[in-house]
Amino acid sequence: MAEESISEEYVTVVGIPEAKAVPAEKMGEDGKGTELRKPAGEVKVGVKEDVEDIKRRIKALLSKTLMVGLNTPGSSIVEEVVKKTGVLDEKWVHYTSVQLQNNISRENFARVPRGERIVFIPHCLRNVQKCKAPVDEDGYHCLKCGNCVIAKITAGCEQRGIRWYMVGGGSQLINIVARLKPKAIIGIACFNEISLAWEKLKGSSSPIQAVMLKKSGCVNTELDLNELWEVLDA
Ligand code: SF4
Repeated sequence: MAEESISEEYVTVVGIPEAKAVPAEKMGEDGKGTELRKPAGEVKVGVKEDVEDIKRRIKALLSKTLMVGLNTPGSSIVEEVVKKTGVLDEKWVHYTSVQLQNNISRENFARVPRGERIVFIPHCLRNVQKCKAPVDEDGYHCLKCGNCVIAKITAGCEQRGIRWYMVGGGSQLINIVARLKPKAIIGIACFNEISLAWEKLKGSSSPIQAVMLKKSGCVNTELDLNELWEVLDA
């Protein structure tokens, strides 16, 4: 699977030129303003604040869209939001799609008591070189050795009284959901795995919240913990 990252080192924002009135003498033969036909400037963003700002703007635009209750297909909303935010990379389109789905089911999710929610953690977040977590049909059992972020995730879930499972993939998640029937599901995963889970759980009445990995791949992936706490505390 291709690695995808929205960590600050890799973010690219493509500037979208503002539409402005073009004087008649600057008009091209086709009637379009030459100023608007210049290629969009590409701006490299290199600090964490910029990434946080993009996320904040995406979330704000999505809440506005949902507040006015537009009867518009999700894909058009996502397209509009990324255009307005000025981020065109595929990873931001994926991020925006996840946030849109989360927003749609957030109200129902927030009604479910924490004790009836389950968090699914992907095993790719483990420190594969050092992890000694035993594995069985319920997934990996983190020993909280502190060698990776999963120690913090599991501690955060337990402090909140939320059950967690560290799974090896989507089918293990589906089996656990079928067996335990949680009233709400929180999945941490890459966009591909999130999409597959949405598809497989389409008929489920349990609201789902997804947290997209900051850096995906098969091993040593990364997560923005604050995004997870935000979802858990909803
Ligand atoms: S904290 Fe848990 S998942 Fe991470 S390396 Fe240690 S045992 Fe493995």
